Amino acid sequence: MSRLTGVGVSPGQASGPVARVAETVPEPASTPAPADPAAEAARIQPAAQAVSDRLFERASRVTGDAKTLLETTAAMAIDPALISEAEQLVTSRSLPAARAVHEAAAKFTEALRAAGGYMAERVRDVQDVRDRIVAELLGLTPPGVPDLTEPCVLVARDLAPADTADLDTSLVLGLVTEEGGPTSHTAILARSLGIPAVVGVRGLLELSPVMAISLDGDTGLIEASSVPLPVRASERSTATSWQGEGATADGHRIKVLANVGAAVDARTAASAGAEGVGLFRTEFCFLAADREPDVSAQRSAYAAVLAPFADKPVIVRTLDAGADKPLPFLAMGAEPNPALGVRGLRISQENPDLLERQLEAVAAAASDSGADVSVMAPMVSTAEEAAWFVERAKAAGIDRAGVMIEVPAAALTAREVLREVDFVSLGTNDLAQYLFAADRMAGALAELNDPWQPALLRLIAEVGRAGAELGKPVGVCGEAAADPLLAGVLVGLGVTSLSMGATAIPAVGSALGEHPLQTYQETAREVLEAASARKAREIARARLRP
Ligand code: PEP
Ligand code: MG
Repeated sequence: MSRLTGVGVSPGQASGPVARVAETVPEPASTPAPADPAAEAARIQPAAQAVSDRLFERASRVTGDAKTLLETTAAMAIDPALISEAEQLVTSRSLPAARAVHEAAAKFTEALRAAGGYMAERVRDVQDVRDRIVAELLGLTPPGVPDLTEPCVLVARDLAPADTADLDTSLVLGLVTEEGGPTSHTAILARSLGIPAVVGVRGLLELSPVMAISLDGDTGLIEASSVPLPVRASERSTATSWQGEGATADGHRIKVLANVGAAVDARTAASAGAEGVGLFRTEFCFLAADREPDVSAQRSAYAAVLAPFADKPVIVRTLDAGADKPLPFLAMGAEPNPALGVRGLRISQENPDLLERQLEAVAAAASDSGADVSVMAPMVSTAEEAAWFVERAKAAGIDRAGVMIEVPAAALTAREVLREVDFVSLGTNDLAQYLFAADRMAGALAELNDPWQPALLRLIAEVGRAGAELGKPVGVCGEAAADPLLAGVLVGLGVTSLSMGATAIPAVGSALGEHPLQTYQETAREVLEAASARKAREIARARLRP
């Protein structure tokens, strides 16, 4: 029996036989040169088409997020830029088709990786498409989750959205990955399905032979066994649907809101029961734009996202560009340390006209859609910055303006910041990264970015206290809000709304109603005293999910 630890990202214990997600296909050789390069190049388009057709076929059998994910990957497989780059490599360098696809994809992944952050997260998707086309050209088994026939623990390097979109989750006892962190796709999926999961288990894939695994999603401990273990599943208390108004068991209102970045997300969120939108990431509308969209283009892009939320509250975040979300049209100069550079509101301060045009478009889209719109600034560090933003928002005719708390300095001066604004929303993803000086995208630093870290929770408590004193709303729109167990603790810390990806809404919405406010407050007080993230989780679990 070998014991390893990772980061528990979805609670519960499970054990059972291992199902390994197939590793990527081997790197294709660059020889022999094709006898007829034109004919070899002509094989690429049909292979890509076959991969795409298969993904579209899988998409046709599912609905909601899974459908969107599979359709997006299917469309990527027949991306004309990727195909023509590969065809050119065959004809210009006499490469076999599979090798040409591999090299063409490498060009794209290098550019995405260099862009960092959210862009870098797309690397996994391009590699997935690449491997499927290469497997098709070489007649190999495509990568991904094998067809499951019995209950098992799924073991993978990391899971791509397309791997799991149509997974038969009734057969998955648990998820264990070598890479990934608390905000990875695996973590989000596992939490939304209530499946125990441990991510970032270094050395996992080097263990052999492993027949069975037992995992503890609370402690992050896994035991790998070379002999069978009894099949054990944790009870799935997670709700699959939820509608209504978020509230504790004694009726204390907590708005359950959605994070969205596009019209499709907004529609999915509305049908998942979101009471509104707590974070509309406007930069997601323009990640590919090479020129600043004019006011009317922005207005229609925003109105499409607001449309499903007529008469409901929507918080529109102004452009959060820079670092992990570069916007090509902003042509920002190279910075030695972009995460600490000119990003978020700092870009607006350097370019107030850009902010003014965006606010004009947001105000117009609000009246087009009938949504009850507020605006919020990203990456605010001081009360002066908050005041600067609010003044501009109100001048643009937007009545409610707030800021994100994602820089520790803003959290520590929450009272002063709150005096200037109508509300704040805690961006726990960035707040953790800046508090721990740990890149939120680095799998190796996943433990530091764990939202259960007591240092992060103590900072949140400061902000919650300030909100209560001033009688102003304090939301959470980072990934922390998507953890049903942590949601109750956040409420106990004074948080008044929670905003998350649509898949987490049913689980969080129903979990909130399990206890009265006082229980969440008492739990939060105990959790704040914990000496580690693991201990904090254990305390909350013992009190809220005994
Ligand atoms: C955050 O930092 O927690 C947040 C919600 O903003 P983003 O993830 O878009 O940086
Ligand atoms: Mg952020």
